[in-house]
Amino acid sequence: MKHLTKWSPDTCGCKLVYETDDEHPELDTKAVETIKACPFHEGLDIGKHFDTVLEENQRKNRFEGMIHKNVPEVIDTKIIEGKEVKHMKDMYQYKWSFDADRNLVVDVKDFPKTAIKKIQDLTKDQKIALQNS
Ligand SMILES: [Zn+2]
Repeated sequence: MKHLTKWSPDTCGCKLVYETDDEHPELDTKAVETIKACPFHEGLDIGKHFDTVLEENQRKNRFEGMIHKNVPEVIDTKIIEGKEVKHMKDMYQYKWSFDADRNLVVDVKDFPKTAIKKIQDLTKDQKIALQNS
């Protein structure tokens, strides 16, 4: 069966509708309608629009996943319903945004220096800019 999902990513102001097919999960998710295009993404055709917004959203999510995996000094672990769940320590909550060139800008200035160095190495060439001053 085909399903339509309305999606507003937390990485920009776009609103899109995409289609998935649970009888054919091997088929790629396909964008079918643009409800709203934010100023950064207006004018793109629908396929390109969806791919671009999705890539930015995944890049932002991947950033935190990468920290969870590789930078234990800023991570705490909680047990929720028997499962280990990692999250940023309260003192290392960070702000992120996208600049005009759609680089993910992450404010890590309060992180320990060792953590910032690790994150710099991990995020090289991934359109991720660290703000640490
Ligand atoms: Zn957008």
